[in-house]
Amino acid sequence: MKEGRTPCINPRCNRTFKADDCNSEVVCGKCFRTLPETVRREHRGYWREIRKWDRRIKRTGDELKITRMRAIRDRISWRLSLHWDREIKPFFLAPEKPDGLDAFFEEVGL
Ligand SMILES: [Zn+2]
Repeated sequence: MKEGRTPCINPRCNRTFKADDCNSEVVCGKCFRTLPETVRREHRGYWREIRKWDRRIKRTGDELKITRMRAIRDRISWRLSLHWDREIKPFFLAPEKPDGLDAFFEEVGL
C-alpha cells in the first residue's frame, strides 16, 4: 500500500484515496454503487443529517446550543459508523457469493 493513501474498502478494488485523518475507511464511488439501494439511501441519509447539524453549529454563536447540537451530531455519526460496520463493510469483506481467488480459498478451506 502506498504511503499516505487509503485503499477502497473493497479488497477486489484497487482504488486509493488521499489519506485523511478523520476517516480511516472509505469506499469508492464505483463500489458504493454496487451496494443495495436501501443501504445507500440509509448511508446518504446519515450524511445529510450530519451536514445539516454541521451547518447549524456553524451558524449559531450560542455555546450552550453548540454543545447540544454537537451531541446530536455525534450520535448520528456514531450511528453512521455502526451502519458502516454492519451493512457496508460485510457487503465487501464477506460476500455471499465469493468469486475468483476467494472462491478457491473457500474451497480449500483457507
Ligand atoms: Zn472501490
